[in-house]
Amino acid sequence: MGTRKPLIAGNWKMFGKRADLVEIEKTLAAASHANAVEILFCPPATLVAEAAKFPVAIGGQDCHANTEGAHTGDISAVMLADSGARYVIVGHSERRRDHGEPDEIVAAKARAALAAGLIPIICVGETLVDREAGRTLDVVGAQLAGSVPAEAGDKLVVAYEPVWAIGTGLTPTSEQIAEVHADIRRRLVMRIAAEGEKVRILYGGSVKPGNAREIFGIDNVDGALVGGASLKAADFSAIIMAHPAAGV
Ligand code: PEP
Repeated sequence: MGTRKPLIAGNWKMFGKRADLVEIEKTLAAASHANAVEILFCPPATLVAEAAKFPVAIGGQDCHANTEGAHTGDISAVMLADSGARYVIVGHSERRRDHGEPDEIVAAKARAALAAGLIPIICVGETLVDREAGRTLDVVGAQLAGSVPAEAGDKLVVAYEPVWAIGTGLTPTSEQIAEVHADIRRRLVMRIAAEGEKVRILYGGSVKPGNAREIFGIDNVDGALVGGASLKAADFSAIIMAHPAAGV
């Protein structure tokens, strides 16, 4: 859409060892010729430095809000950048759930990412309870307001990921995705005026080779954040190639 280059990101979550990089490297190298689409690979932190040699963008899956310090087991945005990452996912619903991360922490992480020169991919999305109660737009709007730091300007990516669609095989209807993406776009434009049109909004939640083309055709869907299906190189490649811009 317009000047927004589609972004298709694979999130390996806590899966993958060094040997698993062999196949995905070949697949990503082949897919990287579709240069009207930006491809992003987010392996676990242990594989970021090695994956940084691939001809696609590399991202972390989380970062600490501080640059360094006594935070055993954590990784800073500066460290990810130093390992070759260009993006970092923050506020994924699995982090919000498993680590109790509220919006303020997500915003602090996004701020740290920006300070380190990384582009934060800020995740938002409603639970099934929220959706059934008719609160989807309010919940997503509040998460956006609380998780996007003022200094981000247009230097961020938003991922709309309904919690109930992640890893479940369930996906919202095209109308439901369109409604939320349009509302996120409206809020971004309210926030940063015309610059809000430049921000890419990804859809995430059970994207598969079989539904990717339809999802990519929805207004204001500027790509996808793909979890489970990105673990199978052939499926991730099929999703990338399903984007209408991939053949350009
Ligand atoms: C995700 O991890 O961001 C995700 C969308 O997972 P899945 O594609 O497996 O639903």
